[in-house]
Amino acid sequence: VCTSADARDQRLRASLWVQSRDGFSLLIDTSSDFRQQALRTAIPRVDAVLITHSHVDHIFGLDELRRFNTIQHERIPLYASPSTIQDLRRVFDYMVTPRHIAPGGYLPEIDFYAFPEEVTTIGPFEVQPLPVEHGHTVTWGYRIAIGAKALAYIPDCKTLSDDVRRRIRGIDTLILDGLRTRQHGSHMTIPESIQAIEGVGAKRGFITHIGHDYSHEDIIAMLPPHIQPAHDGLVIES
Ligand SMILES: [Zn+2]
Ligand SMILES: [Zn+2]
Repeated sequence: VCTSADARDQRLRASLWVQSRDGFSLLIDTSSDFRQQALRTAIPRVDAVLITHSHVDHIFGLDELRRFNTIQHERIPLYASPSTIQDLRRVFDYMVTPRHIAPGGYLPEIDFYAFPEEVTTIGPFEVQPLPVEHGHTVTWGYRIAIGAKALAYIPDCKTLSDDVRRRIRGIDTLILDGLRTRQHGSHMTIPESIQAIEGVGAKRGFITHIGHDYSHEDIIAMLPPHIQPAHDGLVIES
């Protein structure tokens, strides 16, 4: 799959960029490929960051935010669960411990906030954290609403609790983990993902965090019409 000529088969790490109609820019996860993704998509600014969990593929692009500090002349707020914030402060100790800051050093300027478990307002968005099971850890998906429109982004999970299912019932857009068809200990399979999207009655679904077992076209053939495989650079309007 990785050598396929179909551009949709070139899969970088999972992340999502959400922009409101008035231009508020919310980034979900700073993936290891964030620099490449930001350049390719020409992300003009980052007003806030949400992190789903502290696995390397979702956070190792964090340092690249410093360029946005320079462009915007401001610090950038980052929101995550208390335990994820703890991990980020440990992994990126050099950003938060002043003794590391050498003269001329160029560090990201990020304010870390542990979110409450209920709804939080970030810019124009109502953000509801959705705790989901991801192997031995809890990961956070997010329900992001603006006016009557809502999407949920849950890139890394094995199962959805009844409570999370209730909170995303009938949602406009659900972007959900679907790694492959073989069983995996911490990720949903594509059939499990289809079942979950249909189970909550999402109006449309996108499978993300896809591995390299199948091409984009192979996956389309496995899915009902209202569910599609996501791909790098995919733009969803709502
Ligand atoms: Zn993960
Ligand atoms: Zn992941």
